[in-house]
Amino acid sequence: MKISCIQIFFISIILIILNNIYGDITVEYNSSLSPETIKTSNISSIEYFNVFELNKTFKANISDDLLDQRLNVNIYGEQLIFLLDSSLLQYGSDYFNMTHEIIQQEGKYFLPVAFLTNILPQIFNNWISWEADKLKAKAPIDNSIKRIVLDPGHGGKDPGAVGFSKKNFEKEIVLELALKLKKKLEQQLDVEVLLSRDKDEFVSLQQRTKFANENNADLFISLHCNAHRKSEIDGIEVYYLSTAKTDEARAVEAMENQVVYEYEGGQEAVKKYDDLAFILADMAQSEHLEESYNLGANLQSSLVSATEAYDRGVKQANFYVLRGAFMPSVLLEFGFISNKEEEKKLINSSYQEKLIDSVFIGIRDFKMKYDQMQ
Ligand SMILES: [Zn+2]
Repeated sequence: MKISCIQIFFISIILIILNNIYGDITVEYNSSLSPETIKTSNISSIEYFNVFELNKTFKANISDDLLDQRLNVNIYGEQLIFLLDSSLLQYGSDYFNMTHEIIQQEGKYFLPVAFLTNILPQIFNNWISWEADKLKAKAPIDNSIKRIVLDPGHGGKDPGAVGFSKKNFEKEIVLELALKLKKKLEQQLDVEVLLSRDKDEFVSLQQRTKFANENNADLFISLHCNAHRKSEIDGIEVYYLSTAKTDEARAVEAMENQVVYEYEGGQEAVKKYDDLAFILADMAQSEHLEESYNLGANLQSSLVSATEAYDRGVKQANFYVLRGAFMPSVLLEFGFISNKEEEKKLINSSYQEKLIDSVFIGIRDFKMKYDQMQ
């Protein structure tokens, strides 16, 4: 059979069209954000893409639920539910058919490209459209960790815990640590770090979380040194908010909360914290409990492995300073200033470096996981 020039021309056009269909997908945003590309791959002659591309392009929160055989994808705050081994996805009470089913390969999930070209523009018809072989989309909501508030405990008229030697005060050590930590985080983690105090001044507990909330911080980390009437007690512990669980946790809680009795107007002030504010703050924190625990666990394990200090664990307590924070938040107790040996370490600059490096690593690892999930 003879193939004419015209036939070759048409075959070439068809190949070009096919190529366009089976290519990577460009996503353009209606903002100054640079375009992104969704990589596609051919599986059994059908064009698919890895669902995690949605994390890059739409900051989608993706999680699988193997028990219910579902894949949950949250885009623009809306929940899409994909049924595994099915071409159906559920959005609210509606079902959409992607024509081809989800594919699982080596722990990864692949969705048919038809989801991008047909389904997404249907579900988000005000925000996403498929035009000239490109996705045009509203800029995604970026929930990654960008701003951290470090809260050096105590300050000014409130010295915090006093050293075994009676020469060192918690307020001085934690301020020094906070200043050094801020520098390291900003240099190496692409985050902005704000301090609830950057000098020796008194800041009320309420003011500290208010500061974090007003500045839309993504993490709140309160820095402290511990004290105990028995000077042999030592070690590092991390707290996140909840009703105190053990007698020991209650004792630390009482000590850190004592500032309210001593320096913030006594019983009246406690009442102020305890009433409505507590109920609201408790609600605000409860959605971050798991994240706060995860952050605390990261920090505790990295601190203990670097310092070889006694591991007192990740604990729950009811700290005033954590109550008002609308973000994952923890309280670090870097060691017992009331213990002769630990006091010496806490003022030693190379030991301080270890503490700072460990907190840095803990935050960095938490941020990596957290940003992926957002
Ligand atoms: Zn303290």
